[in-house]
Amino acid sequence: MHEYSIACEILDQVLATARTHEAREIKSVTLDMGRLTHTNPEQLAFCFEVLAKDSIAEGAEFKVEMISPSIECDCGYSGPIEEPSGESEEEKLQSELLEYISALTCPKCGKNARIAGGRELLIRAIDIEK
Ligand SMILES: [Zn+2]
Repeated sequence: MHEYSIACEILDQVLATARTHEAREIKSVTLDMGRLTHTNPEQLAFCFEVLAKDSIAEGAEFKVEMISPSIECDCGYSGPIEEPSGESEEEKLQSELLEYISALTCPKCGKNARIAGGRELLIRAIDIEK
């Protein structure tokens, strides 16, 4: 499972950071997650919880900040890709993928634009107890 391997990497990084700061306990972890990563935050949180058992990260709060996709162009245009209006998460992912492809044309000059945001998957903050 995609989420499982990501959760492994996050936990490794979190534990390494905690060691550097000689933490006794990890209270919370906050992630920045771009919508284009197509990662399920609930599944990721679940995997993290399971993996963190018997470590100092056990029971840590797992927060995910979703980052909306955005594009930028050589003409100087940059902006968000419109939020899709799908009902279910499944539909959202589907329409996001379509928008992601169609949004590769700059709305200002019509040239090809680049994806500037929405693919991040980063640890934004770790709250530790010494
Ligand atoms: Zn442009």
